[in-house]
Amino acid sequence: MTDLYRPLRSLREGNWFKLICGASFQHLPAVRNLTLAYTLAGADCVDVAADPAVIAAAREAMRAARCVATGGSEALKFDGLPWLMVSLNDGEDPHFRKAEFDVEACPAYCTRPCESICPAGAIAFSPNPNTFSGVIDDFCYGCGRCLTVCPIQQISTRSYVFTPAAIAPLVLAGVDAVEIHTQVGRLADFKRLWGAIAPSLDQLKLVAISCPDGENLIEYLWDLYKLISPLPCPLVWQTDGRPMSGDIGDGATRATVKLGQKVLAARLPGYVQLAGGTNSHTVSKLIKQGLLGERAALSSQYNVAVNSSTDRLDVSTEEASVLTASAPRFNEDTAQLPYRVAGIAYGSYARTLLAPVLDQLAQRNIQDSSVSINLSENFPNGFHSPDTMTLGIPQPISTHLECYPDLLEQAVSLADSLVSQIKSPMKLAQTIPRQPG
Ligand code: SF4
Ligand code: SF4
Repeated sequence: MTDLYRPLRSLREGNWFKLICGASFQHLPAVRNLTLAYTLAGADCVDVAADPAVIAAAREAMRAARCVATGGSEALKFDGLPWLMVSLNDGEDPHFRKAEFDVEACPAYCTRPCESICPAGAIAFSPNPNTFSGVIDDFCYGCGRCLTVCPIQQISTRSYVFTPAAIAPLVLAGVDAVEIHTQVGRLADFKRLWGAIAPSLDQLKLVAISCPDGENLIEYLWDLYKLISPLPCPLVWQTDGRPMSGDIGDGATRATVKLGQKVLAARLPGYVQLAGGTNSHTVSKLIKQGLLGERAALSSQYNVAVNSSTDRLDVSTEEASVLTASAPRFNEDTAQLPYRVAGIAYGSYARTLLAPVLDQLAQRNIQDSSVSINLSENFPNGFHSPDTMTLGIPQPISTHLECYPDLLEQAVSLADSLVSQIKSPMKLAQTIPRQPG
């Protein structure tokens, strides 16, 4: 495994940022534009649905990001591309489901709370009987919020589980990383899925395992580790604290930080990365708990080598005590923890953050469906969106964020406001009041 990969460096330095587009989110323009904005903002990884069309949209966005960053010049290098990850599941999982209901059964008195609560705008009602009403499948990412508000409980979900035969073509589609969603007690199911992934391991740069909390969680994770080791690539434990809830508010992040602490304390080999409930409060909470930032500062300040397979600081006891003593402490109780979080994955919060800009983009598409924008001023060396080139007609497509430089700038600025939290935690730490002595 080379050390040259920027995302790997981020893991080692404790400032890895992953964008979760959603394991079942298949709205291609949104996947593309989110990937583009977060790539330009410095994301290390983009996690998408294991769907060839979604993978292609994300890859295309990364090529567009490179083009934007270099102004279309072949001579300029751009080493900022994130790793592309797909998520798979070994059994029933809320991340891998879609809501559905019968619009005809909705009573006239219903005020449609399902529509207003859906964070993805996936539920639509049209006054025109010839136009679609119901759940827009591609938009739904399975959060389940609509299920609980329906007064007649008529919303259900349909789940899907990946078959081993579906795995190989996905890996061959050129993804960099695979994440397996599992739950405590599913060792046999995990083993079956792992059997399909294992032959492709040498093509992967990273394997992640995502698991929510549960009784005997740590024992289960150790069993998984024994099953998959030795690995030829780095391993990430994704602690899924409160799945798909980051946009709900401050409280959502507590569960993920708590679960992160639990898994860190187990000292499993590999990196620990938070997800599920992560939002703009997560980094400051981690800093207060002494779980973030110190290693990043230490590794650059003291040039500390980090062992990728164990993530232990490779220093002598004497050096370690010097490093520990000189590290900034925000909470004396937790500062003794030997490990730190390697990174954070943001899903619903990251998507919601950019929603106002993507809504504006949709509005402009409606107003000007035949947009003609001269990109030559922005990309003097020539801009050709890769998918339009395949048609042989190099012209911008109006659903593409980069066709509107003002919206692109807004989107990247918003994305950067989140990415920079973990990339520059010390800057954020200076704004956090110290615990009273
Ligand atoms: S509320 Fe969640 S589960 Fe329901 S339609 Fe919207 S995204 Fe899908
Ligand atoms: S909440 Fe239930 S009954 Fe009301 S519109 Fe939505 S699906 Fe229909």
